[in-house]
Amino acid sequence: MNHTYDAAVLGAGIAGSSLAKSLADQGWDTVLIDRQLFPRHKVCGEFLSPESQHTLNALGLLNTVKSLQPSLISKIRLIFSRGDILEIPLPGHAIGVSRYLLDSTLHSEVIRSGASLQTATTVTSVYPNEDGYRIEMKQEGLPIQVQVRTVIAAWGANRRSGILGSTQISSVNHLHTGVKSHYSGIDIEPVVELYLFPGGYMGISPIEGGLVNVAALLTQESFGKTEKTILGMIDAAARRNPKLYQKLAQATPVPGTQVAVAPVDLHRRPLAWDVIPHVGDAALMIPPLCGDGMSIALRSARLCSTLADRYLRRDISLARWQYEYTRSIHREFKSPMRWGRLLQWLFGLPIVPQLLPRLGHLAPGLAFELVRATRLKET
Ligand SMILES: Cc1cc2nc3c(=O)[nH]c(=O)nc-3n(C[C@H](O)[C@H](O)[C@H](O)COP(=O)(O)OP(=O)(O)OC[C@H]3O[C@@H](n4cnc5c(N)ncnc54)[C@H](O)[C@@H]3O)c2cc1C
Repeated sequence: MNHTYDAAVLGAGIAGSSLAKSLADQGWDTVLIDRQLFPRHKVCGEFLSPESQHTLNALGLLNTVKSLQPSLISKIRLIFSRGDILEIPLPGHAIGVSRYLLDSTLHSEVIRSGASLQTATTVTSVYPNEDGYRIEMKQEGLPIQVQVRTVIAAWGANRRSGILGSTQISSVNHLHTGVKSHYSGIDIEPVVELYLFPGGYMGISPIEGGLVNVAALLTQESFGKTEKTILGMIDAAARRNPKLYQKLAQATPVPGTQVAVAPVDLHRRPLAWDVIPHVGDAALMIPPLCGDGMSIALRSARLCSTLADRYLRRDISLARWQYEYTRSIHREFKSPMRWGRLLQWLFGLPIVPQLLPRLGHLAPGLAFELVRATRLKET
């Protein structure tokens, strides 16, 4: 353990990768660590909102993402189980690209920026010490360690307080399961379609290569005990919305693209800092219905990178970094989170699928404003 890195980023999803790239771009000796092997499929709607492009551009990643020949998406179409449809234009073009392609492309950019990438490496503990932090990991079952000046958690939605020896407790209410599969043979316009039904919703959106991503968030109450396979859960969900069932009737699942994640806790409290800074879903998770999780991941990475740079240059103390970062997370994301949770709650009420389409036709601007309230503001 002779080498001391300036920074370690724990988790190489979209938040961790963009943060590691940004730190390496600023000249810091950075290591990015993930327990998984890439490329891999991940449960996600694979819809990069228009707002995310501003941050991608600032991070020097927009042209790389555009070079992946993603789909461009211009509106949201809500399809209720009784057949009503409500269309809402997006404030710009969203990008449809698989996480399989996106995350591994970001890793190439991380390496190009000069950072090290260690995959198939699970972080087990982080210990503060005189020189920064000692990180303990497992690689092919063998323990390894690394010494770093600073460390940032980008390990996704599930709290990993055990690694930090902290006492944060996760809530265990209102749990969901997320499932996804790619399909061929679905005719789709440049639109993200959100099918709503009792017990959840399913998003269908175009990605690269003429394929379509199908991702659903299902309450464990409604779906947990019946279906055991991912395609079985997608089929069971589709049966609750006739238009969705019709849409998937001719579709062919792409082998090997099926993944699931559980539990998904939509009521977890935001946590910008717990012993170390947290970015992306590790810090906060907006209901996936809003399609803004990746945008928040990118924005939080950018906020954290600026402060990490100042800390590493000994311009600010750790306490100052914690104060500034916690404050900026609160300032940037409080409003979209509040509106996102409201929207998620509204869609769960039995009366809303009847009221919303009518309201949307009477006052189309209202639906647009509601969606806009969940979006990040340009800074
Ligand atoms: C059903 C569903 C649909 C969604 N749809 C959309 C959408 O359309 N648009 C959108 O913007 N967002 C969407 N989201 C949210 C989006 O997927 C997340 O916000 C985003 O992936 C967060 O990125 P991240 O980098 O913070 O975490 P992740 O991408 O989850 O990355 C975390 C990484 O940390 C690694 N890790 C975890 N523990 C360890 C450890 N101990 N050691 C080493 N590595 C570790 C994991 O392997 C993982 O690769 C959706 C989410 C769900 C559940």
